Amino acid sequence: MDLDAIDFRDIDPGQRTLMGPGPSDVPARVLQAMCAPCIGHLDPAFLSIMDETQQLLRFVFQTDNAVTIPVSGTGSAGMETCFVNLVEPGDEVVVCVNGVFGARMCDIVQRLGANLIRVDAEWGRTVDPEAVRQAAKARQPKLLAVVHAETSTGVCQPLEDLRDIAKESGALFLVDMVTSLGGMEAGLDRMGIDAAYSGTQKCISCPPGLSPVSFSPAAMKILRERKTPVTSWYLDMTMVGSYWGAERKYHHTAPINMIYALREALRIIAEEGLKPRFSRHLVNHRALVAGLEAMGLSMLVAEGERLPMLNAVRIPEGADDLKVRKALLNNFGLEIGGGLGALAGKVWRVGLMGHASRRRNVFLFLSALETVLRGQGLKVKTGALEAAATVYASETASDSA
Ligand SMILES: *Cc1c(COP(=O)(O)O)cnc(C)c1O
Repeated sequence: MDLDAIDFRDIDPGQRTLMGPGPSDVPARVLQAMCAPCIGHLDPAFLSIMDETQQLLRFVFQTDNAVTIPVSGTGSAGMETCFVNLVEPGDEVVVCVNGVFGARMCDIVQRLGANLIRVDAEWGRTVDPEAVRQAAKARQPKLLAVVHAETSTGVCQPLEDLRDIAKESGALFLVDMVTSLGGMEAGLDRMGIDAAYSGTQKCISCPPGLSPVSFSPAAMKILRERKTPVTSWYLDMTMVGSYWGAERKYHHTAPINMIYALREALRIIAEEGLKPRFSRHLVNHRALVAGLEAMGLSMLVAEGERLPMLNAVRIPEGADDLKVRKALLNNFGLEIGGGLGALAGKVWRVGLMGHASRRRNVFLFLSALETVLRGQGLKVKTGALEAAATVYASETASDSA
């Protein structure tokens, strides 16, 4: 192959405003942290960075779980880690499905040779705890799994009832927190969650590449008492855990510079504080919805079941999904997401995640969308920015900054 024929230029993707379902905007401080020298994965200087990263992760997960570590890989690696460690062939596993990510859990459970008990709900609605209770009652499951923030639809699943059902039936409670962690209340210990995983590129506002995972002592007991070895060598938490724990035993080379980035992103969250961060997400969400509704658009998810960081809005009649998103990207440098699966072509997914959950982004998106829709000949009501501004005026100034 003749490489001389190709003009390899510097990488220069240009600036974007990331308001899709992830990745979200990464603060400059996080990118800078990645540029620190790459040192060895057993270097004492790196070991203390690992310890600090774990402390910060426990803070963000709101847990005392000793086994709280960033798994090498994206959010799906965290999902796979939880199932592959806690599930053995023949185990009964209840999975709640109301979107793409619940369905992905089912795929993994079946690949592990476990017995899947699937409880479905309409996409765009929450899962009914009564249906889950019936399913759990019949089968005595070992694990009950649910997605907290279903990024494919914008639905927030209440966890309390499902947690109670898991406890009643003696099952471990596993929660996907890929999109909720760092953007809304999700305290692991207070909520009685046994295993949880997240991703770095949603509300943590770090590039994709790591998946924070936390296992409670009850989950670790199940892992230790397995009859069969964990089928994934790479994701075996007993082995990964002994590198992150006191033993410091080499398992695989840690992605050093990604861990620098995660530590910095978590440090930024700690500086802001969890409560102020969650209310910032909520205020910007309310302002965005007020603006969209003022324009005459409607949300997919009913009020009261919506996520603050992922807003699914119905594509108005006459709008061309792809052309609108292309115009937002080309003319405004603004990325939003399209619909997945059954919702493809029906909704846009507008993220307000982590660093991207800002007042200026809400105003940018509303004015950009209004301009693009008018440009396509749609009749759009005026007053979107005023409606958003009214929401901000009723909140304290610092909440949305
Ligand atoms: C993004 C996402 C995942 C998958 O994460 P990847 O980083 O894409 O592997 C899993 N669950 C939810 C809820 C997500 O939003």
